[in-house]
Amino acid sequence: MDRTEFINQLKKLNTNEKTTVELYHEISSLAMNYGLSGLKKPAARNAYYLSIEFLIGRSFFNNLLELGVLEETRQILSDKGIDINVFEEIEDAALGNGGLGRLAACFLDSAAGLGLPLQGYGIRYKYGLFKQAVRNGFQVELPDDWQRFGDPWSQRKEGEKRTVKFADMTVTAVPYDMPVFGKRVNTLRLWQAEGSAEAEKISEYLYPADDTEEGKILRLRQEYFFSAASVGELVEKHLKKYGKSFGNFSEENAIQLNDTHPVLAIVELIRILTAEYRVGFADACEIAQKTFSYTNHTVLPEALECWNAELLEKILPEIYAILLKLHLKQKDELTKLHCTQEEISEMAIYASGNFSMANLAVYIVHTVNGVAKLHTDILKNSLFRTAYKYYPKKFQNKTNGITQRRWLMLCNRELSELIDRTIGKNWRTDISALSGLNPHIESIADEFIRIKTEKKRQLFEYIAQHEGTVIPNGFIVYSQVKRLHEYKRQLMTAFAILEIYKGLKDGTVRNFQPSVFLFGAKSAPSYKRAKAVIKFINEIADKINSDEQTNGLLRVIFVQNYNVSYAEKIVAGTDVSLQVSTAGLEASGTGNMKFMMNGAVTCGTMDGANIEIVELSGRENNYIFGAEVDEIERLKEEGYNPLELLKTNELHRYAVSALIDGTFTDGGTGCFKELYEALTVGATWHKPDHYFVLHDLQSYVAALLKINADYTQRKAFAVKQLKNTANSAYFSSDRTIKEYSDCIWKIME
Ligand SMILES: *Cc1c(COP(=O)(O)O)cnc(C)c1O
Repeated sequence: MDRTEFINQLKKLNTNEKTTVELYHEISSLAMNYGLSGLKKPAARNAYYLSIEFLIGRSFFNNLLELGVLEETRQILSDKGIDINVFEEIEDAALGNGGLGRLAACFLDSAAGLGLPLQGYGIRYKYGLFKQAVRNGFQVELPDDWQRFGDPWSQRKEGEKRTVKFADMTVTAVPYDMPVFGKRVNTLRLWQAEGSAEAEKISEYLYPADDTEEGKILRLRQEYFFSAASVGELVEKHLKKYGKSFGNFSEENAIQLNDTHPVLAIVELIRILTAEYRVGFADACEIAQKTFSYTNHTVLPEALECWNAELLEKILPEIYAILLKLHLKQKDELTKLHCTQEEISEMAIYASGNFSMANLAVYIVHTVNGVAKLHTDILKNSLFRTAYKYYPKKFQNKTNGITQRRWLMLCNRELSELIDRTIGKNWRTDISALSGLNPHIESIADEFIRIKTEKKRQLFEYIAQHEGTVIPNGFIVYSQVKRLHEYKRQLMTAFAILEIYKGLKDGTVRNFQPSVFLFGAKSAPSYKRAKAVIKFINEIADKINSDEQTNGLLRVIFVQNYNVSYAEKIVAGTDVSLQVSTAGLEASGTGNMKFMMNGAVTCGTMDGANIEIVELSGRENNYIFGAEVDEIERLKEEGYNPLELLKTNELHRYAVSALIDGTFTDGGTGCFKELYEALTVGATWHKPDHYFVLHDLQSYVAALLKINADYTQRKAFAVKQLKNTANSAYFSSDRTIKEYSDCIWKIME
């Protein structure tokens, strides 16, 4: 089926008396036929992206856009009296949790767009991440049955199923292929576990609770399951083509490990080669080395995965045996390099009963990369400093990116058309052309303001529908939307809002432009403090929104079930992007890039990709505050006393005391008191306020107020916003993927 045929069939489609879901299936199926008839060129060398998450969002609009038929489809449906937006009823495929999973989805999009052979491998969870509701201010987790509308974008490949073996069970891995359309058609292959009720559990939930032995085993099974199915398939393909000579395996296969979850794929490749095809251990290790590369996504110690040796031995005895051999091989090699005992233990794959997946990856792979300049420097100088000392050439930086197709063209048609009118359409295929906007910024600022106002109106309408809360037009929109985590410091924003609120009440904050603070965030189900922060924000929202003395000036909204589709609305309708992590802890961030591209200024710390954002769009066009990495390091060394700040700063005392003085209720759970103590007393595992919330709070409030004051010069502020859009091309994942492709994968169009 070609394009004309697709259009003709769509025109002929009888839409009378069909439900939205029926139409969704018919149109999706037409688009699949059209898309899949595009060349599926075999490539001499493929790269494979192994990721435990792919946060795809809705496929419908994006696929039509990628196939170049979105506008015609919109028009044809409109002629039939159907608004294409009705398909927003079909919910997201949320097979991911946050930035890491969305990055994987953006990468697939960009590679297909560039015509590069990158295929994805992951898990087809029955339920994605939970659906979040807020009841009585608390997060409630509901199952996310994303397939209840059907899944017209996947094809089950019955004939290509595989077997994955554990000591105590055998599981069938059935592939479901989702095409990724672009200049070429690539495939995201998601494995579904079948065979028994026990087996099915493996692909039931993303991140099942792992605070019990049983939970840990399930996670281990998930990680091995999709790693083994994927690697097993690649080996089999190679075998069919070349027989049992694996010397050239890495010439055709480049495997990227997205964080540590798929690291067992390395061990599985070595296992298959040595156990099934009699390749020598050293040769197998060399093949693995040439094949694999690893992306680190976090420096938080609690997120660096380790697997208990006994558990591994019980569930995956062969893998365990190979891990031990790798450990000995490493020890041997490091001794020959004259590493000290201390250095050896820092890099050790195995230590005190645990295997470190990060150390294993760093030892084996040919390339380790961080995801923003600062993050890669931290890997080199801190987290992996010893490995960097001995293997400096392994380390590279690949600053993250986002696909401008979903995150600008699709979510902000109005701004995209303004860009078309100003510099032509070339930027749509070559994003670097976007910088051509720079000389025109002054002349399009008024039109930009009109568009931003419209995108805010659309966002407010969506929020009114979904949250039942009305935001008056004309408000400045400050947004902090991302996973809920202490290091991301949503709590600091909550305190800042309380301080501004107090200032409005007592008249110390004057000439304040009406503003709304939007939050969207899911907390891990077992993360008590994060859940307490959600409740705290909702308590603050209730109080402030119902205060008639100030609610014409200040509102707070916590949106429920923040996901990709919500993000598409929020990034387009935001003026100020809040990116306020403790310096050194946000590896990159990608939300920050989406906002920048849509013309929001960043109010943030010098962390992750924020640094590169202000480098490119100009520090004067953004609002940077707070301690930088050096200062945080110094504070950690010299000691930091948040109690001193509370003593001397009355506003801080007011905001923080709100946790315990009865202003708000935590429903008798004690969770607010626990937050208070985390800040003021600490806990067995950390010092008081170990994310330096109170340290940065004063400069944060000042930055928020400065933004508010600057906004009164609406046009000058729009110029700052447009400077961000005009200089955001670097943050296209097209650029990131070109870099991976040129410097790590060596794949070609
Ligand atoms: C982009 C995105 C993220 C990542 O946001 P950060 O601010 O970089 O943490 C998380 N969730 C969703 C739904 C996203 O679209």
